[in-house]
Amino acid sequence: MPKAPAVLHVAVPTPLYRTFDYLAPAPAIAVGARVRVPFGRRELVGVVLSTAGDSELPRAKLKHVRQVLDDTPLLSQDMVALLGWTADYYHHPIGEVFATALPVLLRQGRAATAQGERVYRLTDAGRAADVATLRAASQRSLLAALARAPEPLTASALAEHSAAWSRAVQALMKKGLVAADERPCLTVHSVVCSEAPVLNAAQQAACAAIAATPDTFQAYLLHGITGSGKTEVYLQAIAATLARGRQALVLVPEIALTPQVVARFRARFAVPIAVLHSGLTETERLCAWLAARDGLAPIVLGTRSAAFTPLPKLGLVIVDEEHDASYKQQDGLRYSARDVAVYRASRAKVPIVLGSASPSLESVQHARAKRYRLLELPERAGAAALPEVQLLDMRRLKSHDGLSPPLRASIAARLARGEQTLLFLNRRGFSPVWMCHGCGWLAPCARCDARLVYHRGTRQLRCHHCGAEQPVVEACPSCGGAELKPLGEGTERIETALTELFPQARIERIDRDTVRRKGELEAKLEAMHAGHADILVGTQMLTKGHDFPNVTLVGVLNADQGLYSSDFHATERLFQQILQVSGRAGRADKPGQVLIQTWHPQHALFAALVRHDFNAFVEYALAERRETDFPPFSYLALLRAEAATREVALRFLRWARAQGTALAVSGVSLSEPLPAPMERRGGRFRAQLLVQASERRPLHRLLGAWVRALSETREARAVRWSLDVDPVDLY
Ligand code: ADP
Ligand code: ZN
Ligand code: ZN
Repeated sequence: MPKAPAVLHVAVPTPLYRTFDYLAPAPAIAVGARVRVPFGRRELVGVVLSTAGDSELPRAKLKHVRQVLDDTPLLSQDMVALLGWTADYYHHPIGEVFATALPVLLRQGRAATAQGERVYRLTDAGRAADVATLRAASQRSLLAALARAPEPLTASALAEHSAAWSRAVQALMKKGLVAADERPCLTVHSVVCSEAPVLNAAQQAACAAIAATPDTFQAYLLHGITGSGKTEVYLQAIAATLARGRQALVLVPEIALTPQVVARFRARFAVPIAVLHSGLTETERLCAWLAARDGLAPIVLGTRSAAFTPLPKLGLVIVDEEHDASYKQQDGLRYSARDVAVYRASRAKVPIVLGSASPSLESVQHARAKRYRLLELPERAGAAALPEVQLLDMRRLKSHDGLSPPLRASIAARLARGEQTLLFLNRRGFSPVWMCHGCGWLAPCARCDARLVYHRGTRQLRCHHCGAEQPVVEACPSCGGAELKPLGEGTERIETALTELFPQARIERIDRDTVRRKGELEAKLEAMHAGHADILVGTQMLTKGHDFPNVTLVGVLNADQGLYSSDFHATERLFQQILQVSGRAGRADKPGQVLIQTWHPQHALFAALVRHDFNAFVEYALAERRETDFPPFSYLALLRAEAATREVALRFLRWARAQGTALAVSGVSLSEPLPAPMERRGGRFRAQLLVQASERRPLHRLLGAWVRALSETREARAVRWSLDVDPVDLY
């Protein structure tokens, strides 16, 4: 008698907290393979999590798998377990976790084989062609880009030069100026290795410590100011890992993964490097993912989602700028890539290096408790001195357009000496408020609890929360007055003021208004680096990555934003940002100066910055966290709800709170439901409920039972709700 087909437990991409059972086809299917299954009236691609002899449902009710997509499992047991842990820890539906972790093409059921990627090059005719004769600007810019590039360019590289690249390249091919080739999926870019420098004593000690525990889970907190040589430590630790035939996973924050960083890795290692970031085409992503999974890429360098790349021979994990908020996904599966990476290292029993100039308080506390080993790089590698940090007491200084006289004088001095200045202001637009001087009316967003921001360049008022925009209001809707003016400063206003003050200066601005397309940020940073600009004004976009040897002045405008915020992470983030932007100054032989404009010069955060005393800041901030009972002294989860009215959102949370309280898990407290700090956003009302516990275990015990109850109830249908485990902001 033929054996009855096995039952498969399948993770299917639905918002439900469970797997679904299907009947397996004749030859057995292994765990980790993808299957196409009927689901309601649809057909979905799921992943087999386990097989069993039987189901809780009667066999007659089970449906058959329609198609097996992988002969050999797509994911190893180990990856299946990692994603299972992720679903448990973040209390997120398992099917959605798998969907989040897989490249889109695999999610859609595409075969797990790498296609070569298409690359474009100039033909002889293209090389001889006169760019100026082409009518379409997009064709001109592509032709110029291809002429400049040392090697053929991929689709995503072309997309950086023109939004209309696809049509333009077709046209160029028709004219015989451009040809396309298939390039094998992943290539070794360099065979000329850059020489590794001789490490200084601190770097050597760090490398030796990491190398001493090759097959052990040990987390290292590598704390070193910008330019202290952390990346060099990573590179040499990776070299040792590769020498042992193992793979290294390197995570970097989204905006820090620049072509320069990739180039630095490629120049050092003559091995294929799988680079994973949001700018890839889906074909490129699949190629990199498969190269990592098949062990063909010894190094995987990527942003947040690369934390889920399969690595059969993982030997080392590195998380650069481990404090960076971009490691936390803010929607869907709200995971922290850093924390997933730590868990991965512990599963794989390999070392993990968490590097930062200003580590998160959570990691610092782990180091203090000796769970992480602290490695310090106290000096700058190039022997450059630390910048001198000075506070400008804005209570005593008159500022005009946000720039105080001492700051202006310092900028003028830099211009006179041919040196560069960076000005950091975390607010884009011309001014954050558009105000009536007759009656004090402030232009509000109709859909958010927020003011509209005045953008002078486009003569618009814009909401930075929901994206609404309208022409500038010329007559006050409240008193009819006509004297409406901008109040306060954003980057656009600073740029304008600088242009008036220093008409000769070359000024660049970096924020989301001036940097919209890929490659533009790079181009501006490059211009600064190459000395084509004198002053760079920008938001936190400029705090990352780059070093500018000729920058000798950093001005921090409006440093007080975040000092007395209701968000428990705000001071820490402010400190990290100022430290990071200060790190741009005086890297070479020229000493740098940092000027911070503040109305609160007595604040402990600034005292610590002036003395370059990270530990003093940590003492202050940890004491504050302990007093308020926030992480790392407690564990948090935030239940958010969003609805058409305040009452509906709050009613759901009150109901949820009652459910949670009824679970009676001791050691966990549920706050009263409250409107979110910015309650209305995009016309929806938002409310939240904070769950707090002094230990992790009871918190997760409660959350596990709770989310299932919430997901299965009718009450939840009136709202959009989500659970955020270890939230990084409480908004
Ligand atoms: P971080 O990652 O901490 O910002 P980097 O590793 O990028 O620091 O080092 C900063 C600069 O110093 C780089 O130009 C790097 O090449 C150089 N550098 C790092 N370590 C050494 C060393 N031991 N000897 C000489 N130069 C070094
Ligand atoms: Zn008015
Ligand atoms: Zn709005």
